[in-house]
Amino acid sequence: MSRRIIPVADVSAIPDIAGTPLAARGTLADQLARPLRDLRISVTDRCNFRCVYCMPRAVFDKDYPFLPHSALLTFEEIERLARVFVAHGVDKIRLTGGEPLLRKDLERLIERLAALSTPDGRPLDLTLTTNGSLLERKARSLKDAGLTRVTVSLDALDDALFRRMNDADFAPSAVLDGIAAAQAVGLAPIKVNMVVKRGTNDGEIVPMARHFKGSGTVLRFIEYMDVGTSNGWNMAEVLPSADVVARIAEHFPLVPLEAHTPSETAQRWGYADGGGEIGVISSVTRAFCGTCTRARLSTEGKLYLCLFASGGHDLRALVRNGATDDEIATAIGRIWQAREDRYSQLRGSAAADAARSGNGPVEMSYIGG
Ligand code: SF4
Repeated sequence: MSRRIIPVADVSAIPDIAGTPLAARGTLADQLARPLRDLRISVTDRCNFRCVYCMPRAVFDKDYPFLPHSALLTFEEIERLARVFVAHGVDKIRLTGGEPLLRKDLERLIERLAALSTPDGRPLDLTLTTNGSLLERKARSLKDAGLTRVTVSLDALDDALFRRMNDADFAPSAVLDGIAAAQAVGLAPIKVNMVVKRGTNDGEIVPMARHFKGSGTVLRFIEYMDVGTSNGWNMAEVLPSADVVARIAEHFPLVPLEAHTPSETAQRWGYADGGGEIGVISSVTRAFCGTCTRARLSTEGKLYLCLFASGGHDLRALVRNGATDDEIATAIGRIWQAREDRYSQLRGSAAADAARSGNGPVEMSYIGG
């Protein structure tokens, strides 16, 4: 797979934004007035699952050119970049992959990131998205290292269906044991993400809702998206969130809830009987680009401004070529201030096609979901 990289080894090569005041430190706004608040850091491009919508085995086989260890940002490099992002307004960091728990000694990175605080002295919201397969073993050490909470991906409770979907013979019981372990050590509130693919696992919507209702875990249903170029996405396989809510409400009445924050991706629904809440993430039918405050740092240090971006900005080159913190902060500031990305809002239009041109959008397994 080739990826379009925008080299930024030389800060002066990044075009200035005419008329935009540039601060080496301090909060930023992009071209659509969206601040930079969330940073997703991918710590590995490898995964032990082969989910059909993310890392289909036909593409990600034994000959797939995963990144060599030397290409990965070190923990020191990640911490240094994270520190600069935090100075620019980031107050939430999510570790992703691939499967982040496959990265050796991840706890050492978490310790470093947990020691950071916002300019006004608040601790970061430090979280992680995992497939859950290693969570039972790791929950205690993650919590002790300073992780705040976890989000676990789980697409089905049915054993045969789940094994088929992850295509690596993992049982859902292993993931449920991981969720229980995370709950026991206080990595809460735990969120469980279910990608709904019509005709594949939509029959699991109600059983999943029934299982997690009243457990304190927030189950979120994500519309199947056209991320990457490997999954052969088709609109007919998208089940709109409105249908998900209707199917659950037939069994368990729901009431709408207010968003926690303006940039929250999920629309919240509460069980009318007080049994907790669910969320729906309508990435396809109700785009939320207008409040998107997320930047993504790939495993090898490329900065992506959108989940659907086809090119990244090479921050690793800056770090490894001796740039100062101020130069890195200036580069990140310029890149964010130039940002216009809003792929989901434009989906289906000529502008969206143009955004996906070149080598196509980056794979989700490379920058995290
Ligand atoms: S499509 Fe891009 S800009 Fe829109 S919400 Fe998703 S990541 Fe953000």
